[in-house]
Amino acid sequence: MAVDRLLPTDEARDLLGLTRDVADKVLAPIVDQHEKAETYPEGVFATLGEAGLLSLPYPEEWGGGGQPYEVYLQVLEEIAARWAAVAVAVSVHSLSCHPLMAFGTEEQKQRWLPEMLGGATVGAYSLSEPQAGSDAAALACKATAVDGGYRVNGAKAWITHGGIADFYNLFARTGEGSKGISCFLVPRDTPGLSFGKPEEKMGLHAVPTTSAHYDDAFVPDERRIGTEGQGLQIAFSALDSGRLGIAAVAVGLAQAALDEAVAYAHERTAFGRKIIDHQGLGFLLADMAAAVDSARATYIDAARRRDAGLPYSRNASVAKLVATDAAMKVTTDAVQVLGGYGYTRDFRVERYMREAKITQIFEGTNQIQRLVISRHLAG
Ligand SMILES: Cc1cc2nc3c(=O)[nH]c(=O)nc-3n(C[C@H](O)[C@H](O)[C@H](O)COP(=O)(O)OP(=O)(O)OC[C@H]3O[C@@H](n4cnc5c(N)ncnc54)[C@H](O)[C@@H]3O)c2cc1C
Repeated sequence: MAVDRLLPTDEARDLLGLTRDVADKVLAPIVDQHEKAETYPEGVFATLGEAGLLSLPYPEEWGGGGQPYEVYLQVLEEIAARWAAVAVAVSVHSLSCHPLMAFGTEEQKQRWLPEMLGGATVGAYSLSEPQAGSDAAALACKATAVDGGYRVNGAKAWITHGGIADFYNLFARTGEGSKGISCFLVPRDTPGLSFGKPEEKMGLHAVPTTSAHYDDAFVPDERRIGTEGQGLQIAFSALDSGRLGIAAVAVGLAQAALDEAVAYAHERTAFGRKIIDHQGLGFLLADMAAAVDSARATYIDAARRRDAGLPYSRNASVAKLVATDAAMKVTTDAVQVLGGYGYTRDFRVERYMREAKITQIFEGTNQIQRLVISRHLAG
């Protein structure tokens, strides 16, 4: 069922209409086949790029869509309701453009931003390492200064779209401690950069997640974003925006699960009536609807603060925490509504439940979101 959204402009309404159209015609018909076969959907990101859906929150002068974050996130939610793996990759692409947009020099932006935002290339974000996930400041991948640039050695882990994305935000150590990390923009074809085989994941099967290995890879000075040592600040600033993307993806998943559960509850009968007419089940559906609506409200509130230029880091963490916990609960309850059928791969709620789990883990686990929120409370 189409969500009845309050959107700020007619343009935003048209954009949501276009998104639903693309999602229904391009994504929905092939999602099951690719998720089951664990195959990459060639051409899908090019189609989204051509439709202008890959860089919505960035300024038009740089090739972006010039949309408020509030609108971009609702577009992402619609994509996630059809195909979470694709929505996550769109969100990560948007995240990977942030460092250059916010911290790049005018010259760097002119050189790379138009192609990154124009839809022709897709980006990835590589902060995590095998031994440093939540504790990102403990990362060890090393960028040693040499004539004209850096020699990079080490491993990165868990890269969404790894091996396929055209460019990578690399966070690597150029000094000691948390102020000894720098940010680089690395093209996929850099000599000395290779990728591991895709991880065998619980969900999000159609988009690979891989490690990356840097073996004396040369990255020129001009590809360092921001100053030496500014990397962690850049990484966290990008994550504030990215977490809102994950919150929107989670709401899309939860909405899709709710829709399937309500439709099923209208069809299925037990004890002589539709199961939706049993109060116990109707109340379960009501709680699911309340969780979806309130999760959406938290990400829209955070996005509006971002759009207004207000601090929103705490709100982004609240949105990520609330929306992803809601997605986990609502998708699990959707399986319950479908009874035994919900536990089979014949119905999408089984996939939604597996996909919801990762939203509580990446871009900062929900324990880390609580840490961010509690630090704000502690002043
Ligand atoms: C499918 C997938 C895609 C991913 N995509 C990307 C990507 O594109 N780019 C990228 O850089 N990373 C990516 N990640 C990595 C992801 O962000 C990390 O897995 C996540 O940050 C957690 O790190 P970890 O796995 O090392 O767990 P750990 O940090 O080892 O945490 C283990 C457990 O300890 C808890 N914990 C840790 N510290 C604390 C604390 N201080 N207080 C309380 N609890 C704590 C955690 O919450 C967790 O429950 C992806 C991961 C997956 C699975």
